[in-house]
Amino acid sequence: MYEGAIQDLIDELGRLPGVGPKSAQRIAFHLLAAESADVTRLAETLVRVKTMVKFCSVCGNVSESDICRICSDVRRDATVICVVEEPKDVVAVERTREFRGRYHVLGGAISPIDGVGPDDLRIRELMMRLRDGVVTELILATDPNLEGEATATYLARLVSQMGLTVTRLASGLPVGGDLEYADEVTLGRAFSGRRRVD
Ligand SMILES: [Zn+2]
Repeated sequence: MYEGAIQDLIDELGRLPGVGPKSAQRIAFHLLAAESADVTRLAETLVRVKTMVKFCSVCGNVSESDICRICSDVRRDATVICVVEEPKDVVAVERTREFRGRYHVLGGAISPIDGVGPDDLRIRELMMRLRDGVVTELILATDPNLEGEATATYLARLVSQMGLTVTRLASGLPVGGDLEYADEVTLGRAFSGRRRVD
């Protein structure tokens, strides 16, 4: 539709999740009209995020160092691990201020339709963390949808012989949704009311 750079920008923006062709066009023209300094800052931030941000070697959360801030915080309870799908879920749980343990980020959920099996997730890394017996409770905080439930069921079975307390967040979360869409109060309540998985 347009020529050269502006069309390239619209195409690139249109590849982002949740950005349709109309939004891509609107953002592109917004950037075109913006101050040079603002656009430069955005461009530099994009490059920086790819060079600086890594994944924590322990929990898989995003981090700027080898071990993330939560994993290296000695005040956090090392006996409880909250298992989530994505780094954004860590942020959602942290917002509730209900949880003082550690996390494990799987990097997704089991989904045969999308070709995602247990081996594609950081499940082996989770099992390694459970080996020394320090962890006594595993909270399965995967999303309240089909894939999240399947993943939680799989994990509960996998650790069933390890003598851990395995819990799942209480109902009340919007079913079929994403953990991050739950408001802090609802998620906080689901946390404190978590139930044992048999
Ligand atoms: Zn970590």
